[in-house]
Amino acid sequence: MRCHACGGGSIIEVARHRAAYCAEHFLDHIRSQVRAAIDKHRMLSYDDRILIAVSGGKDSLALWDVLLDMGYRVDGLYLGLGIGGYSDRSEQVCRDFAARRDADLHVVDLAAEYGYDVPDATSIKGRSACGVCGLSKRYVFNRVALEGGYDAMATGHNLDDEAATLLGNVLRWQTPMMERQSPVLPADGELAKKVKPLYRLGEREMAAYCVIKGLDYIVEECPLVAGNTVLRYKEALNELEQHSPGTKAQFLFGFLDRVRDEHFSGHTAGDDGVVACSECGMPTSPPTGAHEGQQARCAFCRTRDRVLTVVERRSA
Ligand code: AMP
Ligand code: ZN
Ligand code: ZN
Repeated sequence: MRCHACGGGSIIEVARHRAAYCAEHFLDHIRSQVRAAIDKHRMLSYDDRILIAVSGGKDSLALWDVLLDMGYRVDGLYLGLGIGGYSDRSEQVCRDFAARRDADLHVVDLAAEYGYDVPDATSIKGRSACGVCGLSKRYVFNRVALEGGYDAMATGHNLDDEAATLLGNVLRWQTPMMERQSPVLPADGELAKKVKPLYRLGEREMAAYCVIKGLDYIVEECPLVAGNTVLRYKEALNELEQHSPGTKAQFLFGFLDRVRDEHFSGHTAGDDGVVACSECGMPTSPPTGAHEGQQARCAFCRTRDRVLTVVERRSA
């Protein structure tokens, strides 16, 4: 196939767009999809100070690169999860990228800052290590964004991630989660604005972007993620996509453009009834069946306590 834009030789085909591109026009395609996402959902403005969470993987590093090329003011945040060599290599890749682009990178180490790492969480009951990892990321990202006075927090979630999350939520009819699934969540009290400018681009496109731009990224998956259900949803969607290209995008965009707006708009939880966590001051809901004067602690602080108990018992 010839390049959709210039008719020259192509290096990649994007079946869902029924188009192929040469290297130069493929980069244009990536930028124009990011542009479309930002404009459609009024994600970012050029005055904003943006914080991007970078894992060292292809999506978040490519997004940082695209946003810098577009002229946005973006600093990075890497959270060290303590997952052995995997975390060390991820951090190094983020540091190298920041140095190469002369960009600022915040590095927070979960163990140094909060006393536990993700492997410590494998032995607590009721929550998986992936669950604790996700909770820790959301908490630390929000906290650094607020304390740093950033206008928006960006992540590298792509079309594959978002479609798989939606499938999981639909299969269990987790409507509160569906309500919060959006490429943009406005700032809400002590919760920073969150944006996902890659939601229109697939995993494969982001890997190709990195290769063409010569960006180094961590290819290996997190060693703790094996058997994770989201991976199974991705496989199922890939199978469907192979037979009918465009299925993933129709599933996700149809939800965002029609279902979510029609059924959930205006219901997004405001900060009514939200109180400050008595330990860290971040927002949380009041304790249920609370007696007057009983103190509220957030999910992060409560979970952290349970992990710390296991850590202390082990070292005793
Ligand atoms: P994941 O939850 O691993 O699929 O990652 C989703 C997004 O979260 C990535 O695209 C990054 O923006 C961000 N992220 C994941 N892990 C980290 C990390 N260790 N430090 C900073 N950001 C991360
Ligand atoms: Zn071309
Ligand atoms: Zn707290």
